[in-house]
Amino acid sequence: KEKGRNTYMFYTDEMNKKLVKKLQIENELRKALTTNDQLMLHYQPQVDLKTNKIVGVEALIRWLHPEKGYIPPLEFIQVAEETGLIIPLGEWVLKEAVTEIKKWQQLGFDNIRVGVNISNKQFQHPSFINDLSKLLEKTRVNPSLLELEITENSLLENTKATVETLTQLKELGIQIAIDDFGTGYSSLSYLQTFPITTLKIDQTFVYHLPDNKGDRAIVSSIINLAHNLGLRVIAEGVENKEALCYLQEEQCNEMQGYYFSRPVSADEIISLLKNE
Ligand code: C2E
Ligand code: CA
Ligand code: CA
Ligand code: CA
Repeated sequence: KEKGRNTYMFYTDEMNKKLVKKLQIENELRKALTTNDQLMLHYQPQVDLKTNKIVGVEALIRWLHPEKGYIPPLEFIQVAEETGLIIPLGEWVLKEAVTEIKKWQQLGFDNIRVGVNISNKQFQHPSFINDLSKLLEKTRVNPSLLELEITENSLLENTKATVETLTQLKELGIQIAIDDFGTGYSSLSYLQTFPITTLKIDQTFVYHLPDNKGDRAIVSSIINLAHNLGLRVIAEGVENKEALCYLQEEQCNEMQGYYFSRPVSADEIISLLKNE
């Protein structure tokens, strides 16, 4: 009985700690959203496997906390989703990314696509399309340079509204990528129903290329599937030359990963583009 009680106390203690941490993150994230020096976007190049040129980047949020230093997105995106803070946060990310596209355009790099991660809640939000189309109008950025990255699981719920939102995005000329493809719980039939443009092969299938036979089978099948459906395919998590060569042989369109570059600041992206 003693022991059981201790175990119980141990769990509540753990749960309390988690709750306190969550509340702390929530409060501090709220603060970070009002100051403009803590949040920033980094960008990771996406390279065309035929030309070896940077054709796009993925925008990845970074939070530089004044005392704690960098807090990884996986530690606060979830909290932001649970508390609703993902809505203002997601708006900030989109605005920042579109502003950057504009800046690059003015520097003469007018063909660099930017991928932006969109969380489930943000995607389902009633004013999402309206706010986004206003932003694009105001900045006069070419919508086809924006690629929204959505996970399979976000597309699972509420199919009718989802098709509607995706159709509206398509009509605006925005590109849609399925992120972490192959890890979700959905059937493949949605690929026919939803107007998407791109599949992003999840990194877990890419790390061990070309040695792992199962991963080879999965990756080459995804590439074929994408091409048969008329979609572009990007492999994430390319960490070495061997993986790159395999993807090239399999006619994958683009790659993203540490082998070419880690996510870097906007300034560093500009110098990478200038040096091409
Ligand atoms: P994700 O969308 O799957 O992004 C890819 C993650 O893999 C990034 O981690 C990136 O830095 C990392 N990565 C890229 N290449 C390699 C590689 O070769 N090897 C390895 N080991 N890792 C690689 P990051 O930046 O920590 O982001 C983690 C997740 O946080 C993202 O996963 C995404 O789900 C979420 N996230 C990041 N930024 C945003 C944002 O602005 N909005 C939303 N809603 N989510 C975001
Ligand atoms: Ca992503
Ligand atoms: Ca991904
Ligand atoms: Ca992921």
